[in-house]
Amino acid sequence: MLSCEEVGERSSAWLDDELGWWEGRLVNFHIKRCAMCRSVYEQYRSMKQSLAELGEGGGAALDPEVRSGLMAEFRGSVDRDG
Ligand SMILES: [Zn+2]
Repeated sequence: MLSCEEVGERSSAWLDDELGWWEGRLVNFHIKRCAMCRSVYEQYRSMKQSLAELGEGGGAALDPEVRSGLMAEFRGSVDRDG
């Protein structure tokens, strides 16, 4: 099983379809069982959708600094589980 921290690290890659199918399954499985990771994931997904609507290129068009800032914030909320 993945820890909450590991799921947090993989959620963005999963959203970007960068995970292998097995890792994606593990993340999906964890999120379905863990309310905290699910809410964090849903927040991240809606945030990513909002950002994608800002530019034609979607997430790929994001300024790397903005993207890493968002990721830090996302991970910070995951790390609370400790
Ligand atoms: Zn979790």
